Amino acid sequence: MFNRPLIPILLILLVALLFWLRQPAGESMVSRTALVMGTLVEIKAYGEDRAQLEETIDTAFNEMVRLEQLFSSHLPESEISRLSAATGSFAVSRETAVLLELGIEMARLSDGAFDLGLGRLKDLWDIGGENPQIPGEQSLRRALHGAGPAALQLEGLQVRKQAPDLHIDLGGIAKGYIIDRAAELLLQAGVSSAAVNAGGDIRLLGDRQGQDWRIGIQHPRESDATMATLNLRNRAVVTSGDYERFFVRDGIRYHHLFDPQNGRPARGCQSVTVVAADAASADALATAAFVLGPRAGLDLLEQLPDVEGLLVTADGRRLATAGIESALEWH
Ligand code: ADP
Ligand code: MG
Repeated sequence: MFNRPLIPILLILLVALLFWLRQPAGESMVSRTALVMGTLVEIKAYGEDRAQLEETIDTAFNEMVRLEQLFSSHLPESEISRLSAATGSFAVSRETAVLLELGIEMARLSDGAFDLGLGRLKDLWDIGGENPQIPGEQSLRRALHGAGPAALQLEGLQVRKQAPDLHIDLGGIAKGYIIDRAAELLLQAGVSSAAVNAGGDIRLLGDRQGQDWRIGIQHPRESDATMATLNLRNRAVVTSGDYERFFVRDGIRYHHLFDPQNGRPARGCQSVTVVAADAASADALATAAFVLGPRAGLDLLEQLPDVEGLLVTADGRRLATAGIESALEWH
């Protein structure tokens, strides 16, 4: 009935039809990128109504920009800059109070390895800035004045600094908090499958079309190579490494993750990746574990419920918490 050359064509059409029928009905994916927090941020979301997804993603980006301005240490009129300049007690907004409270909790959990009071130390080193330098011992000590686990006290919305000249730096936690807020906004708008990715720091909502999201983890010494893949749903993944912002002098790498005990770049790790329920905690814990070093850092991650992680030691060994094994593929 058919002439012979038509048969393969019909077969191909049939296979294509079967593939088409297998796609979830009406599901579309929208992906947008924008420069926020000095990083290329991608929001990817799945849903039925394309126009609505686009609008929701736009709203999420606007919220990220608003929060970035609130928490910035560079904008002189930001709430954080005004808090740094304040000499007495200072009232902050509720959302800043929430973030400071989490930071204070992280300082406590990490025995002070995570420190919200390193603003002056960060300016002094100027890693990745115009005039990076290796400061002398005295300048380091001066910059650390007032820092430490008791740097900030929070009572309701009132913040009190341990020292009037203490400068706040939220660089180790704000990015995570901001991607959480974007993800929560998507969720409230009815999006149940999405990824907010800020340069490899990621908050996931749900799964990806019934499958795990596959998250590549950057190799700390081979740019453009991933060292591992994590298969995850509904989690946040954040990495702190010594390879993004640093300078090298006399063969020594000076990077932006400081040990508050001596004011110098922490030496134990090349990178730490933390998986947690929210990106703000994962962000702070990645910084904290990096500063603590492999042994104490991994202990901290093991000890916290619902938190997992992997790290690369300064001499290149790879370690991971026990609970991450089923989700982890090393390359
Ligand atoms: P990023 O993803 O931006 O590279 P990380 O989460 O790795 O950031 O944190 C690095 C930033 O954290 C630094 O640039 C600095 O602002 C801040 N920071 C550095 N050391 C500490 C520390 N011990 N405690 C808290 N924040 C820190
Ligand atoms: Mg961090």
